[in-house]
Amino acid sequence: MNHRDLFYRHIAQTSPGPLSLEIERTEGLYMYSPDGKSYMDMISGISVSALGHGHPAVKEAVKKQVDRYMHLMVYGEFIQSPQVALAELLIGTLPKHLDNVYFVNSGSEAIEGALKLAKRFTGRTEIVGFFNAYHGSSHGSLSVTGNETLKQAFRPLLPDIRHLPFNSEADLAGITERTACVVAETIQGEAGAVVPDTGFMQALRRRCDETGALLVLDEIQAGMGRTGKLWAFEHFDIVPDVLVLAKGLGGGMPIGAFVASKEVMQSLTHRPVLGHISTFGGNAVCAAAAHATLKTILQHSLWNNAAKQEENIRNWLNSKHILSIHGKGLLLAIQFEDAVQCKKVIDRCIENGLLTDWFLFADNCMRLAPPLIITTEQIKKACKIIGQSVNDIFS
Ligand code: PMP
Repeated sequence: MNHRDLFYRHIAQTSPGPLSLEIERTEGLYMYSPDGKSYMDMISGISVSALGHGHPAVKEAVKKQVDRYMHLMVYGEFIQSPQVALAELLIGTLPKHLDNVYFVNSGSEAIEGALKLAKRFTGRTEIVGFFNAYHGSSHGSLSVTGNETLKQAFRPLLPDIRHLPFNSEADLAGITERTACVVAETIQGEAGAVVPDTGFMQALRRRCDETGALLVLDEIQAGMGRTGKLWAFEHFDIVPDVLVLAKGLGGGMPIGAFVASKEVMQSLTHRPVLGHISTFGGNAVCAAAAHATLKTILQHSLWNNAAKQEENIRNWLNSKHILSIHGKGLLLAIQFEDAVQCKKVIDRCIENGLLTDWFLFADNCMRLAPPLIITTEQIKKACKIIGQSVNDIFS
């Protein structure tokens, strides 16, 4: 039986229409199928391959660590040098109070940890999220996700969760002394790359300070330089109490993290001890990959390239059929009239050798989230292919 048949028979299908592309090898921006066709990867495995595919620094770090050790012990017991080096590098880039990190395996898990941490630290139970936010697929992270279609079949979810409209200052009064934490994507990804106003973000920070609620910023998609700053919260001149990371952090390897102050994080140390446990959290090989990824991003200030290429995309992607371009840096949403048009353009782009897709909560928008290493020439080529695909569909 060929791979396609086996894929449909044995691999759990979570969508009735998977892309079902087979990729044999990858290099930099490009993916190659077994028949030799090349695809420009304009979504980076959804904001994961921040340095593109097979970056030499990441590959070398992985290979070296595989030779040393892969797994020693559940998270937090042994001193694992790749974890320590990654924590030191990461914390060096963050505001002073964010000096303690808990590594996990994925974004959902990092959100779970942050929710538990906030409940434990504040002794409160209410959690506030925002409509159209995506925070993950586990029960806790799904509970704070702000989309009813995804959630309704799985209720009951976590109790004491309330959602507010994103970017509405007037509604921030919904955060009270009962609130353990407010969870927000600094820039909403799956909503279609929605950038909030600075005034809103600053008011959110103030409201959390007034009420004693922890501000948890989910930069699982928006962090690691993708939006034109290393951390998306820098755009708004605010700092979170807890920062949540994953996706691009591992440069292609699975790792997530939640970062807080040592004082806050210690709430997971006592009563009960082992307040959060992970067998694989901060896996040594993944931590080594993450260290190499962050080091490379810092060495080359890759967030500047993200900002520069955003400008190029905005200049070069012109069509009367594109209604608007939302987002920041290389987290962009290209808006079409409706989902049908958008899907046609996406399919045509793939036929034309450029991989993109839509957004979970904005199906009339096409996603552009290429690796941060993408060059001006490659952006020029990508815009040409997208422009051509749009023309193909509308002519
Ligand atoms: N938060 C955000 C903003 C995300 O984009 C995602 C993944 N799309 C998650 C959380 C969940 O991450 P994971 O799929 O690694 O659990």
